[in-house]
Amino acid sequence: MKSPFHVMLIPTLGCPSRCRYCWSSEEGSPVMSIDTVRHVVEWLKDFRDDQLTITFHGGEPLLAGAGFYREALPLLAKGLSRLNPTFAMQTNLWRLTPEIAEILAAYQVPLGSSLDGPQELNDSQRGKGYFEKTMWGYQIALDHGLKVSFICTFTAPSVQHREEIIRFFMDHGFTLKLHPALPSLRSHDPAKWALPPEEYGDLLIYLLDASLEHLDILEIMNINDLVKGVMIRHGTVCTFVDCMDSTYAVGPDGRIYPCYRFVGMEAYVMGHVQDRPTREQLTNSPAGQMLQHYKTKVDQVCGGCRHRVYCRGGCPYNAIAPNEGSLEGVDPYCVAYKRIFDEITRRLDEELYGSCALERSPFAFGPKMGDMPGIMALMQKIVTKK
Ligand code: SF4
Ligand code: SF4
Repeated sequence: MKSPFHVMLIPTLGCPSRCRYCWSSEEGSPVMSIDTVRHVVEWLKDFRDDQLTITFHGGEPLLAGAGFYREALPLLAKGLSRLNPTFAMQTNLWRLTPEIAEILAAYQVPLGSSLDGPQELNDSQRGKGYFEKTMWGYQIALDHGLKVSFICTFTAPSVQHREEIIRFFMDHGFTLKLHPALPSLRSHDPAKWALPPEEYGDLLIYLLDASLEHLDILEIMNINDLVKGVMIRHGTVCTFVDCMDSTYAVGPDGRIYPCYRFVGMEAYVMGHVQDRPTREQLTNSPAGQMLQHYKTKVDQVCGGCRHRVYCRGGCPYNAIAPNEGSLEGVDPYCVAYKRIFDEITRRLDEELYGSCALERSPFAFGPKMGDMPGIMALMQKIVTKK
């Protein structure tokens, strides 16, 4: 069976912003050359037959400039047309110009950007002026018909303001994806911003309720993905599948890594695009083997967990980051995943098989908690929207 795969291109690790908790930018990072993009095309041409998604990530990918995208996008789209590639970009939008927006619009590149809530709160953790610069770029994106969704990073301090943050996203009609701030492999003070797993669990329950309570106006992608995963019994985002068989990242110099989170870290280099490595060669590299070992670890540690098929032990980077690179267990956010999966399952069971189940069809979307719609109502919204 064909399964889509994902290659993240990191045109540079440089970034003009100085977010307090950032772990993925590097000063003085080079910018990917068009020659490297050509090597990417040659490498991926015969790499596998599945549908390909290419995400431009960073650092800040727009630092590569209009000239880069004017050449890179047609090279990738034409050279890899056999794989029917789709594109996406993760950017803070600061360097979006009408010229770049036009190029991206021609290739229907959806943009994911980052905003942590209202201006004051956002700028307190992402730096003064961040909010305005992102909103400036956002307007350019809208003017060119580009689709933008926002990732909101919840940190240990900002989670105290979760009501205010959700109200902000609702008031602006922004689609929201959330990230817990992670303990970084590169940070000198990882605990200051990182969201503890228990608090992440609380946050997910809170966001599930917010999604249901404001079903018509609030779109929280992570909650949708969690519900979908439980319903179809298979993860629908990289955190909840065996990502090592479907995701790679290419750094500015053409080196290949398991994912953008590892880019720039010598120990996680799997190969180089110039050498056109096969899947087997990447899997057999020391970094590839370490990621494969994660699968075995998940089977051991999560063997007795009823959520194992649609959780798959969470993200390997999260498991490695707090242990200075060594693989001691599965994703420490397990506590949070278990909590939200337990809650979704409990509510679903209640809706489908609860005391009044005999009186209604399983698709009657109830019972409700108070006046709040149930999980099935959210699922119906997700399916209908598709
Ligand atoms: S390492 Fe984590 S973030 Fe990267 S692809 Fe895997 S699950 Fe996703
Ligand atoms: S919830 Fe925890 S124990 Fe269960 S599969 Fe996920 S990581 Fe493993």
